[in-house]
Amino acid sequence: MSEFSGKKVLVTGASRGIGRAIASAFADRGGVVSIVYRSNSASAEQARLALAGDGHVCIQADVSNGDGARRAVEHSIDALGGLDIVVNNAGIFTTHSIDEVDFDDWQSAWCAVIDTNLIGPAHVCYFAAQHMMKHGGGKIVNVSSRGAFRGEPDGPAYGASKAGLNSMSQSLAVALAPHGIFVGVVAPGFVDTDMAAELLHSDTGDEIRNQSPLGRVARPEEVASAVLFLASEGAEFATGAIIDVNGASYLRS
Ligand code: NAD
Repeated sequence: MSEFSGKKVLVTGASRGIGRAIASAFADRGGVVSIVYRSNSASAEQARLALAGDGHVCIQADVSNGDGARRAVEHSIDALGGLDIVVNNAGIFTTHSIDEVDFDDWQSAWCAVIDTNLIGPAHVCYFAAQHMMKHGGGKIVNVSSRGAFRGEPDGPAYGASKAGLNSMSQSLAVALAPHGIFVGVVAPGFVDTDMAAELLHSDTGDEIRNQSPLGRVARPEEVASAVLFLASEGAEFATGAIIDVNGASYLRS
């Protein structure tokens, strides 16, 4: 029997990049996936059709606000007939260097990034936990970033949002363990996706790749592997863990 056979899995931002790889990895192992996407319905549908197995759905929801987070979770539960695993993967990065932007741009970057990367996942966790607490528990995995530890000088709101996501996940790991809900975090370094494409194809691309002794950045599938581990049977005692997937480019103590 496949490892995630019949498990109902919600993945935010799953129409492309890391989220799509996570959705594929669950589907390959028997999971039934709700692809939550913000706006690109064609790309979400394409991702759904490429998944192994049947029963996968696409749900449109902007998870950066409470209504969208509620919609993502409730519509997924209705469409899948339950919810066992939630992956908060959706995220944005914006450049807002403090020595370059005016205050309006600074303020709007902070609001957008914190809403999407921290408050949105908090709300998704809230609605998912209400369901899981009544239905025998579940797993939540949040996708953070190396930037939470290493700093993001050109995108300080991004680093702060991911540090907040780590802290929130660890608090919820404690709060939800008595309810049989286990919460983990995966913190990638650079990953070969559209989000990082501009930098990876710029003059600094080689410098970025050489941050790792492997001389490359991560593939989305490598991030998916860590997510699957945290969501797997037997990994419950890893609740509260933050798994680095950064090719030893940044070693924290
Ligand atoms: P991506 O930009 O390719 O994909 C992100 C997806 O999230 C997109 O489909 C986007 O539409 C969706 N999304 C964004 N805001 C949303 C919202 N409000 N509601 C619903 N969906 C929304 O990025 P990616 O590289 O696949 O990144 C996935 C996650 O991994 C993000 O949380 C990101 O911060 C994190 N991460 C990425 C890298 C990297 O180098 N690519 C490194 C570390 C961490």
